[in-house]
Amino acid sequence: ETILSIKDLHASVEDQEILHGVNLLVKEGEIHAIMGRNGSGKSTLSKVIAGHPSYKVLSGSIQFKGKNILELEPEERARIGIFLGFQYPVEIPGVSNLEFLRVATNSRRKELLKSELDTFQFEDLVKQRLKIVEMNPAFLERSVNEGFSGGEKKRNEILQMALLEPVISILDETDSGLDIDALRIVASGINRLSQPNSATILITHYQRLLNEITPDFVHIMADGKIIKTGNKELAIDLEKSGYDCIDKNTKEKE
Ligand code: ADP
Ligand code: MG
Ligand code: MG
Repeated sequence: ETILSIKDLHASVEDQEILHGVNLLVKEGEIHAIMGRNGSGKSTLSKVIAGHPSYKVLSGSIQFKGKNILELEPEERARIGIFLGFQYPVEIPGVSNLEFLRVATNSRRKELLKSELDTFQFEDLVKQRLKIVEMNPAFLERSVNEGFSGGEKKRNEILQMALLEPVISILDETDSGLDIDALRIVASGINRLSQPNSATILITHYQRLLNEITPDFVHIMADGKIIKTGNKELAIDLEKSGYDCIDKNTKEKE
């Protein structure tokens, strides 16, 4: 079954068109990697899918399980199972991480299971899911992301994913110094949380992340479009020869 279908998507931010016709089809059980140079529009694409208010869709369509989602608010998209990990996770002083996660989880469970968890049930669930991310329970008592290291924010993001059980998870990795440890947590979290009826889009600069997660498809983005799609070999080629080689090959084909 198709989870996400994007057709000829054009989108702008600050009145400037950034996405120039993106096509992407994601089915159940698939892991897609999106790679590409800085500024090619990867984060813009993820924000447009999540419904970020600063980004405007000019034309084209985004369907989630056959339903047009362009009119849905970001919160509604989250409720129906679209998860975007924060590229730069927000800090929310004064709100404990535990409380934040409980509210988010219950909003999703209301949609998914028509039921919510009380504080005791939620603590049980969190304790169980914490193991997936090897996270110290003390983090739950701290304010959301406040003073968290890069690795801790990443763990928190995967914990959130483990609690929300999204249908599609979009994880936008930056080159902003994910250490080996954080990389491993992200990789094992994704591998453990992948379900046959869900899908993952992984935006990454790291071929080394793709050593631990085997994507079904690798897409290369350039200038607001997906210019090339392949399997994991494409990521390996990219590591070896860089984006220049892709540019050349693409030009030769035109
Ligand atoms: P990537 O994630 O591939 O590095 P982005 O989607 O972040 O690329 O950026 C694509 C282009 O859109 C860049 O030229 C960037 O400067 C521009 N852009 C992204 N967000 C904004 C914004 N909020 N305001 C203005 N320009 C933006
Ligand atoms: Mg960027
Ligand atoms: Mg980006």
